[in-house]
Amino acid sequence: MKPAPFTYRRPTSLTEALDLLAQEPEAKVLAGGQSLVPLLSMRLSSVPVLIDINGLPDLARVTVDDSGVRFGALVRHSDLLAHEGAAAAQPLLAAALRHVAHPTIRNRGTTVGSIVHADASGEMPMILRLADGTLTVASSRGRREIAARDLFVGPLETSLAADEIAVEAFVPALPAGSGVAFDEVARRHGDYALCGVGAVVALDGAGSVEHVRAGYVSVSETPAVVDLTECFPDGEMTARTLAAAGEMAVGQLDPESDIHGTADYRAQLARALTARVLKAAQDDARARAAQKVSS
Ligand SMILES: Cc1cc2nc3c(=O)[nH]c(=O)nc-3n(C[C@H](O)[C@H](O)[C@H](O)COP(=O)(O)OP(=O)(O)OC[C@H]3O[C@@H](n4cnc5c(N)ncnc54)[C@H](O)[C@@H]3O)c2cc1C
Repeated sequence: MKPAPFTYRRPTSLTEALDLLAQEPEAKVLAGGQSLVPLLSMRLSSVPVLIDINGLPDLARVTVDDSGVRFGALVRHSDLLAHEGAAAAQPLLAAALRHVAHPTIRNRGTTVGSIVHADASGEMPMILRLADGTLTVASSRGRREIAARDLFVGPLETSLAADEIAVEAFVPALPAGSGVAFDEVARRHGDYALCGVGAVVALDGAGSVEHVRAGYVSVSETPAVVDLTECFPDGEMTARTLAAAGEMAVGQLDPESDIHGTADYRAQLARALTARVLKAAQDDARARAAQKVSS
């Protein structure tokens, strides 16, 4: 199928893009087009005006410093995945980006576009929540920062106003003493996950579990993050405490059935992946601590 007719605009400055959006609040921003174009082509969505931001190269930068990783709205998934500084500062990014779609889609799709698209089956909205990141948005009225916890307000729905363009996202660096892991189950590598889990585990100076958070893909309506610290009262990850963490997580999720899997199967995946990913994040934290001691 072909999209319904629309007017195509390709501004050459952010100011021009924001003015266009202010004049036409029903317009949509086109970044990588890997979600929007299929929706338009299948006529699941239609727009009067498309504002293509690909003529704004200032939005294609990745910058890394001690505080974390900042990436612009035109940074493709593949560029962020290949960025060694970004992977070193916040390893959750590369760990999850590897699972985002297939290489051709990663070469075109943007990570900020994926965040704004706010699909709870997408890896990167959840990673922004799990890492306590922020999104910077601009309009002709000015700029503001939105914390990830305030960004995702419903299925495929964010707190951006109609005249706002997301210009960059910020993901804080991994705190010292912490480790991360991400894993998912999909029908084929690169397909949307039936269930995906990311985790950040913080250890204290003696190696005891201090803080545990896990984020979930494809088992809730909005990107879900659960604090599981209370499941490890003695600071130890055992088969029993890991199973308790899986149970607590599932209690806060709301998996649904579809043609790819039942709600029960997704819940079972969430339980199993929680235990696996938390353990891997603990191992990662230990390995990082050992590296620090020996260097
Ligand atoms: C076959 C296939 C498989 C896929 N598998 C996965 C997967 O496994 N995991 C996954 O996470 N994703 C997957 N995707 C989606 C992919 O990651 C998309 O690239 C991403 O979701 C959207 O990024 P985009 O730059 O293409 O955005 P677009 O398609 O251009 O835009 C998506 C939406 O966000 C809005 N938008 C985009 N950028 C901005 C901005 N800067 N400011 C304001 N609004 C903006 C658009 O108006 C639109 O509503 C898949 C896509 C396809 C086609």
